[in-house]
Amino acid sequence: MGFDLKARLDERRARHRYRQPALMDAPSGRVAEVGGRVCLNFCSNDYLGLANDAQVVAAFRDAANQWGVGSGASHLVCGHQRPHQALEEALAEHTGRARALLFSTGYMANLGAITALVGKGDAVFQDRLNHASLLDAGLLSGARSRRFAHNDAAALAAQLARAEAPRKLVVSDGVFSMDGDQAPLAAYLDACEASDAWLMVDDAHGLGVLDHQGRGTAFAHQVNGRLPVYMGTLGKALGTAGAFVAGSEDLIETLIQFARTYIYTTAMPAAVAAASLVSLRKARAEHWRREHLSALIARFRRGAAELGYGLMDSDTPIQPLLIGDDAAALALSQSLAQQGILVTAIRPPTVPDGQARLRVTLSAAHEEADVDRLLGALEGAGR
Ligand SMILES: *Cc1c(COP(=O)(O)O)cnc(C)c1O
Repeated sequence: MGFDLKARLDERRARHRYRQPALMDAPSGRVAEVGGRVCLNFCSNDYLGLANDAQVVAAFRDAANQWGVGSGASHLVCGHQRPHQALEEALAEHTGRARALLFSTGYMANLGAITALVGKGDAVFQDRLNHASLLDAGLLSGARSRRFAHNDAAALAAQLARAEAPRKLVVSDGVFSMDGDQAPLAAYLDACEASDAWLMVDDAHGLGVLDHQGRGTAFAHQVNGRLPVYMGTLGKALGTAGAFVAGSEDLIETLIQFARTYIYTTAMPAAVAAASLVSLRKARAEHWRREHLSALIARFRRGAAELGYGLMDSDTPIQPLLIGDDAAALALSQSLAQQGILVTAIRPPTVPDGQARLRVTLSAAHEEADVDRLLGALEGAGR
């Protein structure tokens, strides 16, 4: 017994659940280079095509020249530099909040915010399909964690009505990372307001993508003024890295005092903040990126439905093809790879058992002909 790592690894391999990073030889974008081959990339979260945008890269380079690479310390010691401050102010303005606070990653933002808001004796309510970082944060907080059925506002309302905890925090993805559908935020807020609970939305996949200015799910659902805690990430549609929480003055001051993943970690490089600021401005102003993306999404859904693929209830760039069996999902991904198309198979435990899928993601960097090539390859894969 003891640490029999090999047995554990072998078991995972036998179940077709072994994971490996693909080694990429080119920047994020429309095409990927992997294993010496150039292929169309349909699995990144770079939804607006900003990760390798010339202006964003230039902002990064200029800021690195001015500020160096490392921030040198945590925000509260001496790592909070001008570009961090400027980005926080822009994010607050963009999300219609009094303030915003930067974290180095979305994972850390979720751990920090939830553990700062609730603790032992409190209750956290999570959608069954919430991102792993939210579920982990709930556990780490010491609050009683409850899960409710996916996107089921009535189930949530019933759980909230029965709960007696002094603080009740409801947490949900805004756009679900593996399904692409959106949480019913207005109904959740009705339930929260009736039970004196707070709602926190993780909008990693909505920020930049939803709403005519890319202000995310809360604006798209017209509930921004009612939502106490908004979390967004910079590594997806904004194409950089890092994350933030936005909200009231008191919320942000609370996080500064109590969010351990804010306090005990080095501030992100100033160049990342400077690049993110340019990327945020572009994401907001360049609505053509979202319009182009919408056209690609519609084109893909039409074509995939005609081929008989099982689409999910999503009008976002996340367009998973539900396959079910782990090995079948892997085989389809490999067949696409042979045809020059990169789409990763997503298997349990990232998704529930029996729900392995190809998580197709579209980007404003794609052209209509790229979507047609993907559809042709799916047809060729023979389903
Ligand atoms: C990607 C993601 C995160 C984590 O963000 P990182 O900045 O990549 O750590 C958190 N929540 C959701 C829903 C995500 O998709």
